Amino acid sequence: MKVLKWALAAIIILLIVGLLIPEKMTIPVKGATSKDWNHNTFWYEPWGRSGVHKGIDIFGTKNTPVVASTNGIVIFAGELTRGGKVVAVLGPKWRVHYFAHLNDYYVSAGDVVSINSQIGLLGDTGNAAGKQPHVHYSILSLLPMPWLFTSQSQGWKKMFFLSPHEKLTAK
Ligand SMILES: [Zn+2]
Repeated sequence: MKVLKWALAAIIILLIVGLLIPEKMTIPVKGATSKDWNHNTFWYEPWGRSGVHKGIDIFGTKNTPVVASTNGIVIFAGELTRGGKVVAVLGPKWRVHYFAHLNDYYVSAGDVVSINSQIGLLGDTGNAAGKQPHVHYSILSLLPMPWLFTSQSQGWKKMFFLSPHEKLTAK
């Protein structure tokens, strides 16, 4: 019982520490500005097999460096059917930053990355094949945010997805 209490305390402390790490952010494509994505495509529908679009697409020239949008730890780097070559970084506040359709990636799970460091190259892999090259960027919160719940399609998932547009344009 005592062990359980200590384990619980450790988890709570870890959660709080994660929440206290400052979340500095940058646009994850080198040289890109807010003109390089459509400001209204977060939660846009219909959106292919996903139903609604849970991120933004940052367009650019193929092989433009893709950089980490925050400090964090790489939790996945590999290939997925829809995402193609993807990298997922666990950043401050228990948020996972997901970068998809990369032409290549230069990190692997466990790597510590700092904001603005290169993680890969912009591309058109996965279901972006044949489309204009872009990085699909999503921010997934591992802690649910019930106040973001809406009655939109898949609106309950909004408790777990933050708007990258809002985060990247916040002053
Ligand atoms: Zn997308």
